[in-house]
Amino acid sequence: MEFCTSVESIREVVTDWKQAGQRIAVVPTMGYLHEGHLSLMRIARQNADRVVTTIFVNPTQFGPTEDLEKYPRDLAHDRQLCQEVGVDAIFHPAPAEMYAPDFSTWVTEESLSQTLCGAFRPIHFRGVCTVCLKLFNITLADVAVFGRKDAQQALVIERMVRDLNIPIRIIQAPLVREADGLALSSRNKYLSAEERVRALALSRGLRAAQARYDAGERAAAALREAVLQELQPAADSIDYVDVMARATLRPVALIDQPALLAIAAYIGKTRLIDNLFLG
Ligand code: AMP
Repeated sequence: MEFCTSVESIREVVTDWKQAGQRIAVVPTMGYLHEGHLSLMRIARQNADRVVTTIFVNPTQFGPTEDLEKYPRDLAHDRQLCQEVGVDAIFHPAPAEMYAPDFSTWVTEESLSQTLCGAFRPIHFRGVCTVCLKLFNITLADVAVFGRKDAQQALVIERMVRDLNIPIRIIQAPLVREADGLALSSRNKYLSAEERVRALALSRGLRAAQARYDAGERAAAALREAVLQELQPAADSIDYVDVMARATLRPVALIDQPALLAIAAYIGKTRLIDNLFLG
């Protein structure tokens, strides 16, 4: 497995592969890898000849009061997991390798990124879009795999790729959960034992909403209420519980088209997100 920290060195690796006619898949991550990330790498493996995992805690997608400094990192463990899953190259740049001191070019998606997390994290998706486009360009990838854990992110990236005619195929991968329902996340490391128990309210709320939906309920307000009944007693604060049209990420009152039920809530100081696709 190649391990590259400079744009020049990963470019050499991927250029060789391209010249040999091989197809490249990229899996962008912020590291502290878990089974959710590994599932993406396995899907990448099935859809390309070569797999690049990028490990980069992207400073431009964190707001000034967010957890950039304390974001969990364990590069040695990440390298071992990538090796085990058959990744061909890791790209792990320092921030200075990605952002020149006078960096001044940004990608902003202006519709899907306005609601849900975008409403609470104003610069987040500008940072995500910009870094993903850079990573696509750096790795010369034909395919990129994103998890539905970050459903809005995957949809925003798909929109960017369509709107800017970026020659890459985006694959959305299923959300991976712990056996007890908690969505896998690097940020779960922040949770104390007591908070870990309370965090189960997110997935429990979504399951309650899914059961109502399966029984025929189509009113967004009723599905929201089903989530809030579980979430309100457990969360320290709730950013949103929203039912959005999947195509627009705008609120729907009645689910008569594919929809996304999405949650962001704080358990202690940890902001967790979870979601469910409906229809
Ligand atoms: P992150 O390292 O949190 O930025 O995530 C990198 C990629 O892994 C994103 O495409 C995420 O959506 C995906 N991912 C993270 N957690 C999960 C999960 N539990 N299930 C599926 N994909 C995930």
